[in-house]
Amino acid sequence: MLILISDAFDPSLPDRLSSFGEVTDDKSRLAEAEIVLIRSKTKCTREYLDSAPKLKMIIRGGVGLDNVDRDHAGQRGIIVDNTPEASSVAVAELAMALMLASINHVVAGHNGMVQGKWLKKELKRSELYRKTLGLIGIGRIGGEVAVRARAFGMEIVAHDTQVDSSPIAEILPLDQVLARADYISLHTPLTDQTRQMINADTIAKMKQGVIVVNTARGGCVDEAAMARALEAGRVRCYATDVWTSDPPPADCPLLGAPNMLMAPHIGASSKENLLRIGDLVVEKITNYVNKRK
Ligand code: NAD
Repeated sequence: MLILISDAFDPSLPDRLSSFGEVTDDKSRLAEAEIVLIRSKTKCTREYLDSAPKLKMIIRGGVGLDNVDRDHAGQRGIIVDNTPEASSVAVAELAMALMLASINHVVAGHNGMVQGKWLKKELKRSELYRKTLGLIGIGRIGGEVAVRARAFGMEIVAHDTQVDSSPIAEILPLDQVLARADYISLHTPLTDQTRQMINADTIAKMKQGVIVVNTARGGCVDEAAMARALEAGRVRCYATDVWTSDPPPADCPLLGAPNMLMAPHIGASSKENLLRIGDLVVEKITNYVNKRK
Protein backbone atom coordinates (compact mmCIF):
# COMPACT_ATOMS: atom_id res chain seq x y z
CA MET A 1 0.00 0.00 0.00
CA LEU A 2 1.29 3.48 -0.89
CA ILE A 3 0.33 6.41 1.35
CA LEU A 4 0.88 9.80 -0.28
CA ILE A 5 1.31 12.72 2.14
CA SER A 6 0.37 15.55 -0.18
CA ASP A 7 0.32 18.53 2.22
CA ALA A 8 2.07 19.64 5.43
CA PHE A 9 1.61 17.32 8.42
CA ASP A 10 3.65 16.78 11.57
CA PRO A 11 7.16 15.60 10.59
CA SER A 12 6.74 12.48 12.77
CA LEU A 13 3.87 11.17 10.61
CA PRO A 14 5.83 9.29 7.88
CA ASP A 15 7.59 7.18 10.54
CA ARG A 16 4.34 6.56 12.40
CA LEU A 17 2.68 5.33 9.19
CA SER A 18 5.56 3.24 7.88
CA SER A 19 4.21 -0.02 9.40
CA PHE A 20 1.19 0.23 7.05
CA GLY A 21 3.23 0.36 3.83
CA GLU A 22 5.33 2.76 1.81
CA VAL A 23 4.92 6.45 2.66
CA THR A 24 5.88 9.19 0.21
CA ASP A 25 5.46 12.91 -0.32
CA ASP A 26 6.24 12.55 -4.04
CA LYS A 27 3.07 13.91 -5.66
CA SER A 28 4.05 12.47 -9.04
CA ARG A 29 3.19 9.04 -7.56
CA LEU A 30 -0.51 9.88 -7.14
CA ALA A 31 -1.49 7.14 -9.63
CA GLU A 32 -0.04 4.47 -7.27
CA ALA A 33 -1.53 5.82 -4.04
CA GLU A 34 -4.18 3.95 -2.04
CA ILE A 35 -4.43 6.64 0.64
CA VAL A 36 -3.85 10.35 0.17
CA LEU A 37 -3.41 12.72 3.11
CA ILE A 38 -4.28 16.35 2.43
CA ARG A 39 -4.83 19.59 4.31
CA SER A 40 -6.09 22.67 2.42
CA LYS A 41 -3.54 23.03 -0.36
CA THR A 42 -4.28 19.92 -2.42
CA LYS A 43 -7.55 20.22 -4.35
CA CYS A 44 -9.13 16.82 -4.93
CA THR A 45 -11.09 17.76 -8.03
CA ARG A 46 -12.70 15.26 -10.43
CA GLU A 47 -9.54 15.38 -12.59
CA TYR A 48 -7.32 14.79 -9.55
CA LEU A 49 -9.40 11.78 -8.47
CA ASP A 50 -9.47 10.39 -12.01
CA SER A 51 -5.69 10.43 -12.11
CA ALA A 52 -5.61 8.23 -8.98
CA PRO A 53 -7.08 4.87 -10.12
CA LYS A 54 -5.93 2.97 -6.99
CA LEU A 55 -7.20 5.57 -4.52
CA LYS A 56 -9.41 4.15 -1.74
CA MET A 57 -9.21 6.79 0.98
CA ILE A 58 -8.64 10.53 1.37
CA ILE A 59 -8.01 11.93 4.81
CA ARG A 60 -8.12 15.69 5.16
CA GLY A 61 -6.26 16.82 8.27
CA GLY A 62 -8.61 19.63 9.25
CA VAL A 63 -12.26 20.67 9.39
CA GLY A 64 -13.81 21.65 6.04
CA LEU A 65 -14.02 19.27 3.08
CA ASP A 66 -14.61 22.00 0.51
CA ASN A 67 -11.38 21.06 -1.32
CA VAL A 68 -12.66 17.55 -2.14
CA ASP A 69 -15.17 16.68 -4.87
CA ARG A 70 -17.12 14.42 -2.51
CA ASP A 71 -19.80 13.50 -5.07
CA HIS A 72 -17.23 12.16 -7.49
CA ALA A 73 -15.26 10.47 -4.70
CA GLY A 74 -18.51 8.80 -3.56
CA GLN A 75 -19.22 7.54 -7.08
CA ARG A 76 -15.72 6.08 -7.17
CA GLY A 77 -16.24 4.43 -3.74
CA ILE A 78 -13.40 6.47 -2.22
CA ILE A 79 -13.72 6.99 1.55
CA VAL A 80 -13.41 10.69 2.45
CA ASP A 81 -12.66 11.48 6.07
CA ASN A 82 -11.38 14.45 8.08
CA THR A 83 -10.32 15.39 11.60
CA PRO A 84 -12.83 18.11 12.58
CA GLU A 85 -12.41 17.63 16.31
CA ALA A 86 -8.66 18.33 16.34
CA SER A 87 -8.43 21.99 15.33
CA SER A 88 -11.00 23.84 17.47
CA VAL A 89 -8.65 25.15 20.17
CA ALA A 90 -5.96 26.16 17.65
CA VAL A 91 -8.41 28.18 15.53
CA ALA A 92 -10.19 29.68 18.56
CA GLU A 93 -6.86 30.91 19.96
CA LEU A 94 -6.03 32.56 16.62
CA ALA A 95 -9.45 34.27 16.55
CA MET A 96 -8.73 35.68 20.03
CA ALA A 97 -5.20 36.65 18.95
CA LEU A 98 -6.56 38.58 15.94
CA MET A 99 -9.15 40.32 18.09
CA LEU A 100 -6.58 41.30 20.72
CA ALA A 101 -3.91 42.32 18.19
CA SER A 102 -6.35 44.57 16.34
CA ILE A 103 -7.53 46.62 19.33
CA ASN A 104 -4.07 46.78 20.91
CA HIS A 105 -2.35 47.90 17.67
CA VAL A 106 0.28 45.22 18.18
CA VAL A 107 1.48 45.35 14.56
CA ALA A 108 1.50 49.16 14.27
CA GLY A 109 3.35 49.56 17.59
CA HIS A 110 5.94 46.98 16.61
CA ASN A 111 6.43 48.39 13.11
CA GLY A 112 6.73 51.90 14.56
CA MET A 113 9.51 50.77 16.90
CA VAL A 114 11.32 49.02 14.03
CA GLN A 115 11.17 52.32 12.11
CA GLY A 116 12.42 54.29 15.14
CA LYS A 117 8.99 55.84 15.85
CA TRP A 118 7.56 56.14 19.38
CA LEU A 119 3.79 56.02 18.69
CA LYS A 120 2.70 56.21 22.35
CA LYS A 121 0.28 59.12 21.79
CA GLU A 122 -0.98 57.91 18.43
CA LEU A 123 -1.92 54.36 19.35
CA LYS A 124 -5.15 54.46 21.33
CA ARG A 125 -6.01 50.98 22.57
CA SER A 126 -9.41 49.65 23.52
CA GLU A 127 -10.55 46.66 25.59
CA LEU A 128 -12.62 43.54 25.11
CA TYR A 129 -14.03 43.86 28.63
CA ARG A 130 -17.81 44.50 28.64
CA LYS A 131 -17.95 44.62 24.85
CA THR A 132 -20.34 42.44 22.85
CA LEU A 133 -18.97 39.64 20.70
CA GLY A 134 -21.25 38.42 17.90
CA LEU A 135 -20.47 34.89 16.79
CA ILE A 136 -21.79 33.73 13.44
CA GLY A 137 -21.71 29.96 13.86
CA ILE A 138 -21.41 28.54 17.38
CA GLY A 139 -20.28 24.99 16.68
CA ARG A 140 -16.96 23.55 17.84
CA ILE A 141 -14.72 26.57 17.11
CA GLY A 142 -17.33 29.25 17.82
CA GLY A 143 -17.99 27.53 21.15
CA GLU A 144 -14.30 27.57 22.08
CA VAL A 145 -14.12 31.27 21.18
CA ALA A 146 -17.16 31.93 23.38
CA VAL A 147 -15.47 30.30 26.39
CA ARG A 148 -12.34 32.41 25.90
CA ALA A 149 -14.25 35.64 25.23
CA ARG A 150 -16.33 35.07 28.38
CA ALA A 151 -13.08 34.93 30.36
CA PHE A 152 -12.29 38.41 29.01
CA GLY A 153 -15.61 39.68 30.38
CA MET A 154 -17.36 39.91 27.01
CA GLU A 155 -21.08 39.55 26.48
CA ILE A 156 -21.72 36.94 23.80
CA VAL A 157 -24.50 36.86 21.23
CA ALA A 158 -24.59 34.32 18.42
CA HIS A 159 -26.45 33.32 15.31
CA ASP A 160 -26.45 29.71 14.15
CA THR A 161 -28.97 28.06 11.84
CA GLN A 162 -28.74 24.79 13.84
CA VAL A 163 -28.58 26.13 17.40
CA ASP A 164 -31.57 27.44 19.41
CA SER A 165 -30.01 27.88 22.82
CA SER A 166 -26.59 27.92 24.44
CA PRO A 167 -25.34 28.07 28.02
CA ILE A 168 -22.75 30.68 27.08
CA ALA A 169 -24.34 32.87 24.40
CA GLU A 170 -27.65 34.53 23.68
CA ILE A 171 -28.86 33.02 20.39
CA LEU A 172 -30.43 35.62 18.13
CA PRO A 173 -31.45 36.16 14.50
CA LEU A 174 -28.56 37.29 12.29
CA ASP A 175 -29.75 40.92 11.99
CA GLN A 176 -29.83 41.32 15.78
CA VAL A 177 -26.34 39.87 16.17
CA LEU A 178 -25.06 42.28 13.50
CA ALA A 179 -26.77 45.24 15.19
CA ARG A 180 -25.52 44.48 18.72
CA ALA A 181 -21.96 43.28 18.23
CA ASP A 182 -18.85 45.40 18.77
CA TYR A 183 -16.81 42.46 17.44
CA ILE A 184 -18.05 39.88 14.94
CA SER A 185 -16.24 36.57 14.56
CA LEU A 186 -17.13 34.14 11.76
CA HIS A 187 -17.23 30.39 12.43
CA THR A 188 -19.42 28.82 9.74
CA PRO A 189 -18.43 26.45 6.97
CA LEU A 190 -18.47 27.79 3.40
CA THR A 191 -21.82 26.78 1.89
CA ASP A 192 -24.27 28.27 -0.59
CA GLN A 193 -25.94 29.99 2.40
CA THR A 194 -22.75 31.42 3.91
CA ARG A 195 -20.98 32.43 0.67
CA GLN A 196 -20.52 36.22 0.86
CA MET A 197 -22.91 36.41 3.83
CA ILE A 198 -20.83 39.41 4.95
CA ASN A 199 -21.60 41.84 2.14
CA ALA A 200 -22.64 45.47 1.62
CA ASP A 201 -26.15 44.76 3.00
CA THR A 202 -25.03 42.90 6.13
CA ILE A 203 -22.18 45.35 6.77
CA ALA A 204 -24.77 48.18 6.67
CA LYS A 205 -26.56 46.45 9.58
CA MET A 206 -23.41 46.38 11.75
CA LYS A 207 -22.38 49.00 14.30
CA GLN A 208 -20.22 51.85 13.06
CA GLY A 209 -16.58 50.93 13.77
CA VAL A 210 -17.19 47.21 14.23
CA ILE A 211 -14.24 44.81 14.16
CA VAL A 212 -14.74 41.72 11.99
CA VAL A 213 -12.61 38.61 12.53
CA ASN A 214 -12.61 35.77 10.01
CA THR A 215 -11.02 32.43 10.77
CA ALA A 216 -13.75 30.52 8.88
CA ARG A 217 -13.47 30.83 5.11
CA GLY A 218 -12.51 33.80 2.91
CA GLY A 219 -15.53 33.16 0.68
CA CYS A 220 -17.92 34.00 3.55
CA VAL A 221 -17.00 37.67 3.00
CA ASP A 222 -17.54 39.81 -0.10
CA GLU A 223 -13.96 41.11 -0.25
CA ALA A 224 -14.74 44.13 -2.45
CA ALA A 225 -17.56 45.23 -0.13
CA MET A 226 -15.31 44.75 2.91
CA ALA A 227 -12.54 46.83 1.27
CA ARG A 228 -15.04 49.65 0.66
CA ALA A 229 -16.28 49.46 4.27
CA LEU A 230 -12.69 49.72 5.54
CA GLU A 231 -11.99 52.70 3.26
CA ALA A 232 -15.11 54.41 4.60
CA GLY A 233 -14.22 53.62 8.23
CA ARG A 234 -17.52 51.73 8.57
CA VAL A 235 -15.53 48.65 9.66
CA ARG A 236 -12.66 49.58 12.03
CA CYS A 237 -10.62 46.46 11.27
CA TYR A 238 -10.99 43.28 9.22
CA ALA A 239 -8.72 40.67 10.75
CA THR A 240 -8.60 37.58 8.59
CA ASP A 241 -6.74 34.31 8.39
CA VAL A 242 -8.67 33.12 5.35
CA TRP A 243 -8.89 34.17 1.73
CA THR A 244 -10.90 33.30 -1.34
CA SER A 245 -7.73 31.69 -2.65
CA ASP A 246 -4.51 30.74 -0.84
CA PRO A 247 -2.55 32.98 -1.22
CA PRO A 248 -4.79 35.85 -2.40
CA PRO A 249 -4.11 37.16 -5.91
CA ALA A 250 -2.20 40.45 -6.22
CA ASP A 251 -5.41 42.24 -7.24
CA CYS A 252 -7.34 41.08 -4.12
CA PRO A 253 -9.05 44.32 -3.00
CA LEU A 254 -8.25 43.63 0.65
CA LEU A 255 -4.47 43.69 0.20
CA GLY A 256 -4.43 47.46 -0.34
CA ALA A 257 -7.28 48.30 2.04
CA PRO A 258 -6.62 50.22 5.29
CA ASN A 259 -6.95 48.63 8.74
CA MET A 260 -6.47 45.07 7.61
CA LEU A 261 -4.86 42.51 9.92
CA MET A 262 -3.76 39.57 7.82
CA ALA A 263 -2.63 36.03 8.51
CA PRO A 264 -1.65 33.41 5.89
CA HIS A 265 -4.24 30.70 6.77
CA ILE A 266 -2.45 29.44 9.88
CA GLY A 267 -5.51 28.81 12.08
CA ALA A 268 -4.95 25.06 12.26
CA SER A 269 -1.16 25.18 12.13
CA SER A 270 -0.19 25.03 15.79
CA LYS A 271 2.36 22.31 16.50
CA GLU A 272 0.01 20.82 19.10
CA ASN A 273 -2.78 20.63 16.53
CA LEU A 274 -0.53 18.97 13.95
CA LEU A 275 0.26 16.30 16.57
CA ARG A 276 -3.47 15.83 17.33
CA ILE A 277 -4.21 15.56 13.61
CA GLY A 278 -1.38 13.01 13.26
CA ASP A 279 -2.89 10.89 16.08
CA LEU A 280 -6.28 10.88 14.34
CA VAL A 281 -4.75 10.02 10.95
CA VAL A 282 -2.95 7.02 12.47
CA GLU A 283 -6.21 5.92 14.16
CA LYS A 284 -8.21 6.22 10.92
CA ILE A 285 -5.65 4.31 8.85
CA THR A 286 -5.48 1.60 11.54
CA ASN A 287 -9.28 1.21 11.34
CA TYR A 288 -9.18 1.14 7.53
CA VAL A 289 -6.47 -1.52 7.45
CA ASN A 290 -8.25 -3.64 10.11
CA LYS A 291 -11.53 -3.53 8.14
CA ARG A 292 -9.72 -4.47 4.92
CA LYS A 293 -8.23 -7.62 6.52
P1 NAD B 1 -18.84 23.15 13.21
O1 NAD B 1 -19.57 22.33 12.18
O2 NAD B 1 -18.62 22.56 14.56
O3 NAD B 1 -19.60 24.55 13.43
C1 NAD B 1 -20.08 25.32 12.35
C2 NAD B 1 -21.38 25.94 12.79
O4 NAD B 1 -21.82 26.82 11.76
C3 NAD B 1 -22.49 24.91 13.02
O5 NAD B 1 -23.00 25.01 14.32
C4 NAD B 1 -23.52 25.26 11.96
O6 NAD B 1 -24.85 25.03 12.36
C5 NAD B 1 -23.24 26.74 11.73
N1 NAD B 1 -23.77 27.23 10.46
C6 NAD B 1 -23.78 26.63 9.26
N2 NAD B 1 -24.37 27.42 8.35
C7 NAD B 1 -24.73 28.54 8.99
C8 NAD B 1 -25.35 29.75 8.57
N3 NAD B 1 -25.79 29.93 7.31
N4 NAD B 1 -25.55 30.71 9.50
C9 NAD B 1 -25.17 30.52 10.79
N5 NAD B 1 -24.58 29.40 11.24
C10 NAD B 1 -24.35 28.43 10.34
O7 NAD B 1 -17.47 23.56 12.55
P2 NAD B 1 -16.16 24.11 13.31
O8 NAD B 1 -15.27 22.98 13.65
O9 NAD B 1 -16.58 25.07 14.35
O10 NAD B 1 -15.46 24.87 12.09
C11 NAD B 1 -16.07 26.02 11.51
C12 NAD B 1 -15.35 26.44 10.26
O11 NAD B 1 -14.04 26.93 10.60
C13 NAD B 1 -15.02 25.29 9.29
O12 NAD B 1 -16.11 24.93 8.49
C14 NAD B 1 -13.89 25.88 8.48
O13 NAD B 1 -14.44 26.58 7.39
C15 NAD B 1 -13.24 26.87 9.44
N6 NAD B 1 -11.88 26.45 9.83
C16 NAD B 1 -10.85 27.30 9.56
C17 NAD B 1 -9.56 26.95 9.94
C18 NAD B 1 -8.41 27.88 9.70
O14 NAD B 1 -7.30 27.41 9.47
N7 NAD B 1 -8.59 29.18 9.77
C19 NAD B 1 -9.30 25.72 10.55
C20 NAD B 1 -10.38 24.89 10.82
C21 NAD B 1 -11.67 25.28 10.46
